[in-house]
Amino acid sequence: MSNIVSYEERIKSFSWDAAKAELGLKDGQPFNIGALCSDRICALGLGAKTALIWEGSEGKERRFSYDEIRVLSNTFAAGLRGMGIVPGDRVCLFMDKIPELYIGAIGILKLGAIAQPLFSAFMQDSLITRLADAETRAIFTTTRHVRKVRKILKDLPKLEKVIVLDAEGFQLGEREVAFSMDSAPRVESFEPFPAGPETPSLLHYTSGTTGKPKGAQHVHGSILSQYLTTKWVLDVQPDDIYWCTADPGWVTGTSYGIIGPWVTGSTQAVLDAGFSSSRWYEFIQKHRVTMWYSAPTAIRMLMKEGTELVRKFDLSCLRHLCSVGEPLNAEAVLWSKEAFGKPFYDTFWQTETGAIMIANYPGMEVKPGSMGKPFPGITATVLDLKERQPLSKPGTVGLIAFKPGWPSMFRTYWRNEATYKSKIVNGWYISGDRASIDEDGYFWFVGRDDDVINTAGHLVGPFEIESALLQHPAVAESAAVGKPDPVNMEVVKAFVALKPGFEGKENLDLEIMNFIRKKLSPLAMPQEIEFVKSLPKTRSGKIMRRMLRAKEWGEPIGDTSTLDDEG
Ligand code: AMP
Repeated sequence: MSNIVSYEERIKSFSWDAAKAELGLKDGQPFNIGALCSDRICALGLGAKTALIWEGSEGKERRFSYDEIRVLSNTFAAGLRGMGIVPGDRVCLFMDKIPELYIGAIGILKLGAIAQPLFSAFMQDSLITRLADAETRAIFTTTRHVRKVRKILKDLPKLEKVIVLDAEGFQLGEREVAFSMDSAPRVESFEPFPAGPETPSLLHYTSGTTGKPKGAQHVHGSILSQYLTTKWVLDVQPDDIYWCTADPGWVTGTSYGIIGPWVTGSTQAVLDAGFSSSRWYEFIQKHRVTMWYSAPTAIRMLMKEGTELVRKFDLSCLRHLCSVGEPLNAEAVLWSKEAFGKPFYDTFWQTETGAIMIANYPGMEVKPGSMGKPFPGITATVLDLKERQPLSKPGTVGLIAFKPGWPSMFRTYWRNEATYKSKIVNGWYISGDRASIDEDGYFWFVGRDDDVINTAGHLVGPFEIESALLQHPAVAESAAVGKPDPVNMEVVKAFVALKPGFEGKENLDLEIMNFIRKKLSPLAMPQEIEFVKSLPKTRSGKIMRRMLRAKEWGEPIGDTSTLDDEG
């Protein structure tokens, strides 16, 4: 049965209660995302259905039925409980896209603990910041990544348990315990934690312009948004083979890479391998992927290889394609029509919103280059840049803002309520992005309203990079900005003023780049370093990244009246 009903119809009769009724939730009665994504599907008689088709980089394949997801997530939950982890504790998942990442997240939620997924590409500084802030009690990892945790253990007194998932034959170190999903005694039944709509579920760290990354705290009630958007925007149907290419270190990889497909009882496919166009097409062909959720950078990389490569595969299985994370350029939409016979449908949302907020829906006219219209039940607008009041004239650029109150809205930034509150102005949640709305109600993305860098769909905070740069002995001061890039949209460029005596040192730029890669992650590594005598600053001494960024983008530099004379 198709999920398609016209956008206008949906708006007319919309109520979040529709999701509650479909999920069998009753006001005042507890529920749990972990159980809704596994136990409930089995109770519907779908226990034998394949929930996960997993393929590793070497081509190894594993399949898990819903009943296996149910039992193995119980096993995770009971294992954690046995280690003394209690509801509300933060439990990090730090590993590649292996089955344990997906099933472990369900187990953590069933226990009532808070799942904190982090990219396996993170290096020690990125890890410390996020684990220390969350006061994480336990971390699941693998022998491949445990060394990075070992290096920072002394700085993380609250991290009591480092749980190694593949420890057979491995020498465990301090605070390390072994837990194998496959060989632990299987736990047939586990009473899921009786969560309510406000019970914390996931903690996703996201970068802002200033300060350290902030933990957006989500709740079990978010399931209503994730369920309906998965059905109505991604159009996931029971017979779909669904592939979300996002890593669960990013919110897309949890909301739509774990919760969405499993709460709708569909089959999801996961490829744990680096990007390669032919490998991706092969994956789609082999597993007969029908619904594909990806990102503009990936689409541009596919575009680079052209339609000839596409024609070598039978991709006729593809039914619906969606994209998220960055502006989806009109050319990419048109190319996908040519290559796959279908457009990519753009969707817009953020870590903080927990679910899709603005989208192009199946059955709705797509204006290539536009992000589409607000999801039913979401009140979205653009606010004028100064007064922060809704703009009524179509085509005027303002700040994208949403009326708080949708189920998956983040509830706070972890231990940082002040910043959370600062994002709500005149009764609107301010997203940090700019857009305009046309006369038909379609949103057109313009750009970020802050200095956050969006590289290949990942938000990177300039402050985190600059703080790391300052730890290099040659760096006196620095500024990190986004520089245009044809594939990744932006890459990081750093402007660096050197300490005396370091000028002219050979390969210093490469040395500094590598330093950042090892401290933070390959994504945060500047692709270019420009050495400068000094950085433009305001009279109060704040570095004017905006000016440096404008130069990179060939845009007008704007108001420089607050600029330091020597800048
Ligand atoms: P994150 O919180 O890491 O998911 O990043 C959210 C940010 O990614 C948004 O605030 C936007 O800047 C950007 N973004 C996400 N989806 C889109 C989209 N469809 N078009 C343009 N930018 C997007």
